[in-house]
Amino acid sequence: MNRRRVVLLGASGSIGTQALEVVRAHPDRFEVIGLAAGSDHATVTAQAREFGVPTVAMADPAAAAAVRDAAPGVDVLDGPGGVEELAGMDADLVLNGITGAVGLAPTLAALRQGTPVALANKESLIVGGDLVVVAAEAAGGRESHLIPVDSEHSALAQCLRGGRRDEVGRLVLTASGGPFRGRSAVELGAVTVEDALAHPTWAMGPVVTCNSATLMNKGLELIEAHELFDVPWDRLDVVVHPQSVVHSMVEFVDGSTIAQLSPPDMRLPIQLAMSWPDRLPHAFVACDWTQVAQLTFEPVDRTTFRALDLAEFAGRRRGTWPAVLNAANEVAVEQFFAGRIGFLDIAEVVERTLMAWDGEAAGNPRDLADVLAADAWARRHAAAALTASNVSAGGGDRPNARTTGESA
Ligand code: MG
Repeated sequence: MNRRRVVLLGASGSIGTQALEVVRAHPDRFEVIGLAAGSDHATVTAQAREFGVPTVAMADPAAAAAVRDAAPGVDVLDGPGGVEELAGMDADLVLNGITGAVGLAPTLAALRQGTPVALANKESLIVGGDLVVVAAEAAGGRESHLIPVDSEHSALAQCLRGGRRDEVGRLVLTASGGPFRGRSAVELGAVTVEDALAHPTWAMGPVVTCNSATLMNKGLELIEAHELFDVPWDRLDVVVHPQSVVHSMVEFVDGSTIAQLSPPDMRLPIQLAMSWPDRLPHAFVACDWTQVAQLTFEPVDRTTFRALDLAEFAGRRRGTWPAVLNAANEVAVEQFFAGRIGFLDIAEVVERTLMAWDGEAAGNPRDLADVLAADAWARRHAAAALTASNVSAGGGDRPNARTTGESA
């Protein structure tokens, strides 16, 4: 069997290093032909050596120079353009594990080349929306060319194999609830960065972990599910499931629900995405039914965790709205990490930025430039909304996606 030639973007991050564990477990299945990362040149140099990777791209030019010095035999591209070029090279699969909106351009580059993308960079679908969907359809189809890596969407893709598309009633995403599950807004006023980064079940990068604490991660995942599976907003739901064993569920029209279960370990969805649609006969982990286990479910608290409604508000409107939501959130999270704003201010900044955006005037983005313009505006606006007096002033009309959003 020919080995699948894989380009790995975000190689030094949480998804990237776990993807290489999958390659290590299946050297007969995968060949890594390209690695891209931001600035962690030491990790990428070691990876290129271990896996015999011929081409590397580093977004940071200084880091690219360091890889060139340390690994003279490796072809090294640099800058964001270099990462895009690597994504567009001839390959069987591009695994995009980049965090943030910077992951969009490489996703589009891969799809334009006709290469299926295993997508861990949820921002591609959130910020890029229509652009990515159209590029995937042109490349051969949404289902074959956008392969979910996120555990929830991997679960949904697996459960969707259990029936026809016209038999699907609802997609139900599970949320761990993060470290602050059960707390009130008052209790969340004084939580620290350290508290927000102590996720009870998943080990992930810092931005995703903070997004899990605000539930913005689940909001972004709802948008991602809407774009990936083309299911209307009224048939997308979230339920809190603290154990993170049921990764999501599909409810069919006859009331039957099919769920996907496995211990919280990203190597499973990463491995499945890399070998999609096949399963590989190697389990990193599986449920152990000899141990006492409890699986519990509870409704989500949308009043305390406002990020969910904000995401639905933006996601229902589509166009540039989700790009603005995401950019404002990225700025707010950065400022929270820097100690400049409190935990609850993250949603406040996102809401203020959404309320100031004229998405109707901006219309539907025609290309990457339109999306990036909305993204840049949102970053400027969010940064300006961050002065302490502004943030603590609070308030205004709060969007409620359930009552004000039109169905998509
Ligand atoms: Mg997830």
